[in-house]
Order: sequence, then structure tokens, then C-alpha cells
Amino acid sequence: MRQSELGYPTLERDTQLTQLGRAPSKHAGMVNIPIYRGSTILSSTLEEWESGKSADNPMANYGRFGSPLSRALEEAICELEGGYNSILFPSGLSACTHTLLGLLQAGDHLLITDNVYGPTRIFAERVLKRLKIQIEYFNPTDVSDLTKRLTDRTRVVYLESPGSITFEMQDVPALAAAAHAIGALVVLDNTWGTPLYFKPFAHGVDISIHAATKYIVGHSDALLGVATANEKAWPALQASAHHFGEIAGPDDIFLALRGLRTLAVRMQRHWENGVKLAQALSFHPAVDRVLHPALPDHPGYEIWRRDFEGASGLFGVLLKPMTRVQLSCFFKTLTLFGIGLSWGGYESLALLVDPPPTRCASAGIGEGPLLRIHAGLESVQDLIADISQALDAACNAGADGSAIRSAALA
Ligand SMILES: *Cc1c(COP(=O)(O)O)cnc(C)c1O
Repeated sequence: MRQSELGYPTLERDTQLTQLGRAPSKHAGMVNIPIYRGSTILSSTLEEWESGKSADNPMANYGRFGSPLSRALEEAICELEGGYNSILFPSGLSACTHTLLGLLQAGDHLLITDNVYGPTRIFAERVLKRLKIQIEYFNPTDVSDLTKRLTDRTRVVYLESPGSITFEMQDVPALAAAAHAIGALVVLDNTWGTPLYFKPFAHGVDISIHAATKYIVGHSDALLGVATANEKAWPALQASAHHFGEIAGPDDIFLALRGLRTLAVRMQRHWENGVKLAQALSFHPAVDRVLHPALPDHPGYEIWRRDFEGASGLFGVLLKPMTRVQLSCFFKTLTLFGIGLSWGGYESLALLVDPPPTRCASAGIGEGPLLRIHAGLESVQDLIADISQALDAACNAGADGSAIRSAALA
């Protein structure tokens, strides 16, 4: 059922990306599944109407429960992730929050990695606590810290590897084994790893989430989320999406499916550009430390090498202490990097992480300003030149904002 009518079961991953979810014979020969807009889905007989009902959903024949377009994307993601079934959400955050709401009830204990995506943490603090769910955080890089916090009330362990601001790698198989030993479910925000570079279900995860807004859409032109579950966790995930009436818009789904077709070639370039840019930056005198899991001096490098098949273009740069004026000069002098949230599009971004991320169960990253860099699809020589000249300019900017003339210029 998940196999495209064009596909064969033994296809390589990159070939699968061109085949999954397609069905030209059902859509007038069109290469791509057309955009389905609709609420009402008509049946031609009473028997046909009744055959559309299912035990867990007596109203399955309705736009809110999916269309050929949404099913195509869900089936494609599910196949790539290696799960049992997937469901779309209108944003990545919506996938995170509705997964948690589907699994937890009052009195449950939730353990969250301390490097979690900020808005997920805020949701836990402001909404889940109000629902009498007990929240606790654990050190992302210390399996024993998780183990000692597990209780017989722990229902969910929530992971994110690497964290999208501070880039700690988590030992997902070890954390999952500890969680499963006491009967808890493991949820992973897999956005950095993409459905290509980290296989969640082969590493013990029960529900894997993607902000498809990032690399799956890939062009900064739509918001979308997707959650994939194994057979055990699927009923709770599906019920949560249905009970809350979550539904993604057809145009955004179409854009995500289109993005998916080129994911492998784009990711190859993001990976290469990210590593080359991070390496170049690590030699700049203004840089204290580069936080990139695919560089051998990163503390999580061995885990990345063991568990991942590639790297995304997102990484961190810890600068040596500099003044606000120097930082402002850096951003003003950049020409190819946009200043803005999100990542995963074709374009490069630079963002000052300010204020520093909230921590309670692990140490922060360091003293200097922290930048988050997204390496886009541009030529990496241009990216290196641009960011290097902006850092040079920042180094030469005086505390009063005027440029200090270097000896060479004097
Ligand atoms: C962006 C992001 C999200 C949320 O996705 P939106 O589509 O912006 O709601 C969730 N998790 C991570 C790691 C992200 O980077």
C-alpha cells in the first residue's frame, strides 16, 4: 500500500524520493498528485458511504481526515522514516504539542531533554503544567541523568538530537532503552536529522517528529509538521490529531511533496557547505568554538558517526566576547546571510541566539555571543568570504562604533 505504483521494493533511497506517493494513473497521468481542495467527499450509494466508515473513525470520509494528496506525503515520510504510519500537522510546533497531548494525562511525568526546541519547552511549562502533568528536564548528554530521574509515573521521554541551538548529540538508543525499561514512550524531534540522515525507529524511537517547514519544504515558503509512529504509539497519535481537528492546508502539502523530491540533492549540498563553512570559521580569530556534530572535535562526533548518515546545514558558532557594537557591525556587514528564524530553505541565515537558551539540568555553552548559522545552497566560497569579512569588520569596530583603523591602513 505504501509502495508507489511506479516503484519497486528494492529501490535505493534517492530513487525512492522520486517515486514515493505518486500515482499518475489515478490522476489523469499527471506526474504529481494534484492539489485536492475539499471538505465534503461524496459517495454514490449508501453502501459506498458505509464502507468508508472504520471502527476508530465513523466519519472517515471527510476532508478533515485526509485526501489523496495528504496521504501521499504521509506515506512517503513514513516509508523514509521506517515507521508504521504518519500524520500531518499545520506546523512543526503543532506536531510536537499534539503528540505530547495525545500521550499524556493528568498525573503523568514527562522527561524532556534540556536542549529542547524553545517553543516546545514553553508549551510544556505553560500548558502541560496547567493540565497537572509533571515536567522535568534531563542533561542531554548524560544517560545516567535520565535514568535517575525516571519514575513509575514517567509516561514519555522527549528527545532532540542534536539540539537546534546548542547541538549536543544524544545517545538515542541508550536513552530509549532506559525509557522502555520502565514502560515509557520515546518521542524524538528529528528535524535536524531529516528523514534521510537519522532513522528513528531503528534507534528505538516510538514517535518521530519533523518540522517539515525546514528541509522537507526546503524553500522557506510554507509551514508544515509531520509525526510518524510505530504500531504501538500510532493509535494515540492519530486520535490526538483527530480530536483536535488538526489539518494542514493542501497548498502547503503540495509544496512539501515537491520539496521532498529534491531532498537528497539539497541535503548533500547543505551538509557539504555546512561542514566547509564551520571548518573555515573555526580558524577565525573572532571565533571561540564551532558547534557542529560532524566535525571530529565536537563532543558528540562519535555518536553522529555511529548513528547518522549525513549532516544538515545548521550549526552553532560561539564567538569570543565582543561588544554589542561589534555584533551589530557583524550583522550589518553580512551580505549573503539573512537575519531571521527558521532554517532548511535554500538560503543562508545567521541569527544571534539572545537571550541564551533556558537551562536547568545541564551547563550552558559558554560566555561569548552564540550564533546559529544555516548554510544554504550558495557557493561555499562566497559564504566563507562573506562571513569572514563580516567577522573581520566586527573585530575592527571600536566600542564607540567607529572603525579602529588597523596598522595596515594607518
Ligand atoms: C522550527 C522547529 C520546530 C517548529 O516548526 P514550525 O514549523 O516553525 O512550527 C520544531 N522543532 C525544531 C527543532 C525546529 O527547528
